[in-house]
Amino acid sequence: MVLADYKYKDVIHRCCRCGYCKFPTDWMDVNSCPAYARFRLESYSCGGRLWLIRAWLDGEIDWTEHLAQIVYSCAACKNCAEKCPLSFSDDIVDMIVAAKSEMVERGSIPSVIKEFLENIQRQGNPYGNARTKRGEWTEGTGIKQYEGQEFLYYVGCVGSYDTRAKETAKTLGEVLLKAGVSFGVLGNDENCDGNEVSKLGEESLFQLLAEENIQKFKDLGVKKIVALSPHSYNAIKNDYPKFDGSFEVFHYTQLLRDLIKGGRLDISGGLDAKVTYHDPCFLGRWNKEYDTPRQVLYAIPRIELVEMERNREGALCCGGGGGNFYTDFLGGSENSPARIRIREACATGSTVVATACPNCLTMLEDAVKAESLEERLKVRDISEIVAEACLAKKG
Ligand code: SF4
Ligand code: SF4
Repeated sequence: MVLADYKYKDVIHRCCRCGYCKFPTDWMDVNSCPAYARFRLESYSCGGRLWLIRAWLDGEIDWTEHLAQIVYSCAACKNCAEKCPLSFSDDIVDMIVAAKSEMVERGSIPSVIKEFLENIQRQGNPYGNARTKRGEWTEGTGIKQYEGQEFLYYVGCVGSYDTRAKETAKTLGEVLLKAGVSFGVLGNDENCDGNEVSKLGEESLFQLLAEENIQKFKDLGVKKIVALSPHSYNAIKNDYPKFDGSFEVFHYTQLLRDLIKGGRLDISGGLDAKVTYHDPCFLGRWNKEYDTPRQVLYAIPRIELVEMERNREGALCCGGGGGNFYTDFLGGSENSPARIRIREACATGSTVVATACPNCLTMLEDAVKAESLEERLKVRDISEIVAEACLAKKG
């Protein structure tokens, strides 16, 4: 493909590199784009990236591994789309994804991205771990295989394999059991949802995963899906309908809110903690779900919920989107977005930073360690906070 064949050829030149996309609306001395915050180079901002993409497609510059890393360091967090004042703002992340697709087509992708995609193709997860180990996290929990229950609990790759995120997957399952929710999991039969695959520009693999998952869900008679990860939630809710896969999809915080409202979870034990909430990009900016996680936290007695300076639409990404939780293009520095975010959380005086995404959870917890703040700040998934409040009642 050359620029003339690029889907966004008529609009990409409109980016005037004004830079609004990389700063918050009040021009605080901070950066909204996590990649720009990490590298402080114009080429890593949204506008800089668009200009590089245009030059590459127009043959003005050659492909290099470095160019590909710049393009792939975009975490698909959509913060730029919130800030860009031009009418094409809704498309700017897709413009970057389309450039990634072209790199995939040409076979010119960074080696770590190649590995990520090959692992998914071979084993159905980016880590390359055996499919036969996907359901191991359920051992000893009483969580059952899906066989026509009301909800399919879809866990996703991070919740199924990451050591820390597996604890969250388990905790949420146990909370749902406690509330008497009728649900089951796919265990070893679960496959990657494809959200990151799509954001990395591998459209054919994404379509394959989506179609296989949809067929599996239909064969099992699945009607309602509750997702642990906002990444899975985003793909199944927004992209699967394009492949004839329409299900009633919930993020788990939406289900917890309803269970609490309906009196099916006794959280009256509460929690004595000052808590700040980090908005996951694929729940917030991608799906406009800002209120529900906060409603769950507000419902828990004695939690004092305080906001970070940047929250909701303006929240800084932890840097884990677009496959970066695996490739770590944005890691290795005190300017890594997760570390910046942890310092912002700390500035609120909170002792707990809550989130609702296994990717954010692991990124932020690693950042707490890198900042040597383990004694000062804990990272907790909302399901874990709810579980703690339920247990406090017991004690
Ligand atoms: S993407 Fe939008 S806000 Fe960013 S530099 Fe280009 S025109 Fe300006
Ligand atoms: S989506 Fe996020 S990481 Fe990508 S250019 Fe926009 S602000 Fe930067």
